[in-house]
Amino acid sequence: QLSLEQVVEHIRWDEGLVPAIVQDVDTREVLMMAYMNRESLKLSLESGETWFWSRSRQELWNKGATSGNVQEIVSLKYDCDGDTLLVEVKPKGPACHTGAVTCFHNEIIGLPATNSIQSSSSNAESRFEVLAELESIIAERERERPEGAYTTYLFDKGVDKILKKIGEEASETIIAAKNKDNDELRLEVSDLMYHLLVLLQERKLPLDDIMSELSRRHERPRRD
Ligand code: AMP
Ligand code: ZN
Ligand code: ZN
Ligand code: ZN
Repeated sequence: QLSLEQVVEHIRWDEGLVPAIVQDVDTREVLMMAYMNRESLKLSLESGETWFWSRSRQELWNKGATSGNVQEIVSLKYDCDGDTLLVEVKPKGPACHTGAVTCFHNEIIGLPATNSIQSSSSNAESRFEVLAELESIIAERERERPEGAYTTYLFDKGVDKILKKIGEEASETIIAAKNKDNDELRLEVSDLMYHLLVLLQERKLPLDDIMSELSRRHERPRRD
């Protein structure tokens, strides 16, 4: 273990500041970037929480001091050429002052194929939100039966019609997958999921129960 003074010597303090990337140690999501100076690095190492130098306020800044969203440091590394720090944390709340989990929520370009794999866990909440919204729209359709809505048609026809549609959409999903056609697969899986949600509504089985079941299954066995 290097002493603090030795560590500080490995870092390139251009103008006294070094960028620090903050990453969630569990979800692996990149949360924010802020600058550290020697003093904030020292405070971070001593306190086990992230401290930065605020360039706009010209002061030391303990992330979460006012919002409560402090970041408990799990690891702190510098990169190959010592010009960037990487801080892995367990955050107590959103990193961004806007209330977003990560500061990086302004998408310029998206790569759907890789995005869905790489950020499936990080975006879990917002993706779940879409399903929850759809669930409540479907519930509303069942209550109000607006004329001309496809969901109304399904509820009017009854559960057998819904089950038949699920069978069809499942078959179409299989065909799209066999054809290695991901554009088609995206559409068919969406159709399938929508019809599954309609079935859940018809059976009065909350989506939450499915989500709980899934998270129970992937919970890792604990040793303690
Ligand atoms: P906090 O550190 O969360 O208590 O927030 C205190 C103030 O720090 C906020 O009002 C913002 O001005 C600023 N701030 C907090 N989080 C960030 C961030 N991720 N990036 C830039 N500024 C931030
Ligand atoms: Zn490198
Ligand atoms: Zn570098
Ligand atoms: Zn932010």
